[in-house]
Amino acid sequence: MKILLAVDGSEHSAKTVETIGSLPWPSGSLVRVLSVVDQVVTATPEVAIFSAATIEAERDQLLRTTDELTTRFAHWLCSTGVVAETRIRRGDPKSLIVEEAEEWRADLIVVGSHGHTGFKQWLLGSVAQSIVSRASCSVYVVRERREKQSADKSDKSEVAEPAQERLGGAAAGS
Ligand code: AMP
Repeated sequence: MKILLAVDGSEHSAKTVETIGSLPWPSGSLVRVLSVVDQVVTATPEVAIFSAATIEAERDQLLRTTDELTTRFAHWLCSTGVVAETRIRRGDPKSLIVEEAEEWRADLIVVGSHGHTGFKQWLLGSVAQSIVSRASCSVYVVRERREKQSADKSDKSEVAEPAQERLGGAAAGS
């Protein structure tokens, strides 16, 4: 089975990786850990004062951070017995996750319900929503656990323990 696991640098992405590592996949399954580095630079006055070289240097840094993140996730998945590889693409995450799944002929796309851009009060973040609507294969949305306010307080240590700590400090942003 070919599983395309889309991750950004959010804490929930790390939890999504944990979930995938805990499930019994058919033998011979391959997980491709994909992160898309968004290239859009908003035209603000602040951006206008940066040179193209500065913007490119920032993108290179982002690519390095993303490479570290996906590599750490893939290594961790391999330690659970799954075969995993990494893939980084540059562009629009909504389009490229679906495109990657089609080109690679993935059987399943896995996304978190929320990431960096998803408002917590929405059922799904915008990237997750777009993948669910546009993908031609099945999509597994790993839901972010919503605790009741009161339970939050008493459960804090278990719920709030950052998943990236358990995955070896994968807290880098993408
Ligand atoms: P969002 O819709 O932005 O809240 O993110 C929901 C999920 O979409 C995340 O948990 C990731 O699984 C996936 N996702 C969002 N942005 C990216 C990205 N740049 N690259 C790969 N996956 C992403």
